[in-house]
Amino acid sequence: MSLPFIDLKSQYTALKPRIDARIQAVLDHGQYIMGPEVKELEAALAAYTGAKHCITVSSGTEALLIALMALDLRPGDEVITTPFTFAATAEVIVLLGGVPIFVDIEPDTCNIDTRLIEAAITPKTRAIMPVSLYGQVCDMDEINAIAARHGNLAVIEDAAQSFGASYKGKKSCALSTFGATSFFPSKPLGCYGDGGALFTDDDALAQTAREIRVHGQSQRYTHTRVGVGGRMDTLQCAVVLAKLERFEWEIARRLALGARYQALMQGLAVQPLGLREDRDCVWAQFTLQVDSRQTVQQALNAAGIPTAIHYPTPLHKQPAYAQYGRGQSFPKAERAAERVLSLPMSPDLSEAQQDRVVHELARALSASLPVI
Ligand SMILES: *Cc1c(COP(=O)(O)O)cnc(C)c1O
Repeated sequence: MSLPFIDLKSQYTALKPRIDARIQAVLDHGQYIMGPEVKELEAALAAYTGAKHCITVSSGTEALLIALMALDLRPGDEVITTPFTFAATAEVIVLLGGVPIFVDIEPDTCNIDTRLIEAAITPKTRAIMPVSLYGQVCDMDEINAIAARHGNLAVIEDAAQSFGASYKGKKSCALSTFGATSFFPSKPLGCYGDGGALFTDDDALAQTAREIRVHGQSQRYTHTRVGVGGRMDTLQCAVVLAKLERFEWEIARRLALGARYQALMQGLAVQPLGLREDRDCVWAQFTLQVDSRQTVQQALNAAGIPTAIHYPTPLHKQPAYAQYGRGQSFPKAERAAERVLSLPMSPDLSEAQQDRVVHELARALSASLPVI
């Protein structure tokens, strides 16, 4: 029998009474757009992260886009980011006429290599957009310090995969000018459709982002700026509110399962994700690096263990973004793209299921060894 890659069904079963009641409450009051659950969720998430403001939006992509719009990114402005991420990170920069400037990654964490950022800064640089990949926060103190040294560049944490993660005692999303997260169903805090949120401590930026979210309206039918249709549905906010009730348990489970995976893999011919002591990883995906990935992946899939690759092609090698790579190579990102492999991970994964994954991984690895 095949394991689920992400077990959303067990999560729903565990939370069914709460989720159903929350959804029913929305059906009863009927305020499907900007209903009371929207404000309730924003208050809960601001309190959870420690950020002063939370603005829910229609997706993680929209959160990143609205952050850049609120910062008034102009055509030709440069934003420093990583090529080893989901396309949305660079997409929003390009949509506004900006230029993504790629910087290579650390080979072990797969997060942006902060030592390479300063050399990429030019007079056109407006912002740095690090991605807290796989659920481990980037070195945000160092990135904020670089930004401060260069005329107060804005820093936007793409925290789509890291909601719930901690960094030096603080929470992801509350670590820089803006934090942007996603409630896509497979993310650490998912809804049942699309959703996302933006976080900031800055009152003026928060107000601007709120206006942009509703077509630039400062009051009804007063459009003070150009905005987007970027609201998160009341129903989706209701689902996230229900899920928050066991979120702390889920995060603890993710940390425990991630540590257990890494312990069980000692001695296997895999490179586990590099972890930093001053932060934790909430394992949006449980990702490792392995040689002969295709062989290992095929053997796992044949044994009923679903896998995924986050991500097979770095953005500077994607047709839509190659021009921004300016012919440069990013060897660490390229090597990671050839070797990363994600295994089943979710709070409801059992230890027995996890043992089975590791057992099949060990078999797949021994089968992939070259015959001498
Ligand atoms: C998922 C993801 C996004 C986009 O979030 P959506 O809610 O799907 O729009 C952006 N960046 C990263 C790193 C992601 O993993």
